[in-house]
Amino acid sequence: RPLVGVLALQGDVREHAAALESGGARVLPVRRPEELARVDGLVVPGGESTTMSRLLEVFELLDPLRERLAAGMPAYGSCAGMILLAERVLDGRADQRQLGGLDVVVRRNAFGRQVDSFEAELDFAGVDGGPVKAVFIRAPWVESVAEGVDVLATVPDTPGAGDAAGRIVAVRQGRVLATAFHPELTGDPRVHRRFVDLVREAA
Ligand code: GLN
Repeated sequence: RPLVGVLALQGDVREHAAALESGGARVLPVRRPEELARVDGLVVPGGESTTMSRLLEVFELLDPLRERLAAGMPAYGSCAGMILLAERVLDGRADQRQLGGLDVVVRRNAFGRQVDSFEAELDFAGVDGGPVKAVFIRAPWVESVAEGVDVLATVPDTPGAGDAAGRIVAVRQGRVLATAFHPELTGDPRVHRRFVDLVREAA
């Protein structure tokens, strides 16, 4: 079983750890460069991207993490994690730092301009067994993707979706996966299992 890290500076670390274990991985919380060096892949959890960005600098993880991503380490970011992995952020804070690895533009708090949270059932490319329940909490969405980025899910045009209908909320570029929502909160391990498969393929 691959050893998957969960960046454990802030955010919903325990929920990701549980989902990864159900998805077939061994899990290591990552707070130090030595821990980062040991993992086969990393989850960047949901939480608050500006806080996580600051803590990445305080814990001296920003550069080591950028290096591992540049070297092809598999990564999965949910919500704030998606924001951190994106190359560019709209409506971010001026001092917010990016890890990079995902060639997309995200808009921070995109749903939050209308509602704080929103739920939908999504078709998720590469995840079998029916729609995935998506919980969005002050979530970003993806405004645009570069060539080479696969769109895996968009918001369905349902009542209540409003402006969000059709927006991109799950993407993959090579071994980097990201969702604007939180599969770690719904007890459905399929998205995490998909990520563990990517880690296994890379190993
Ligand atoms: N709004 C948060 C941010 O900007 C993300 C919210 C979340 O991860 N649930 O980082």
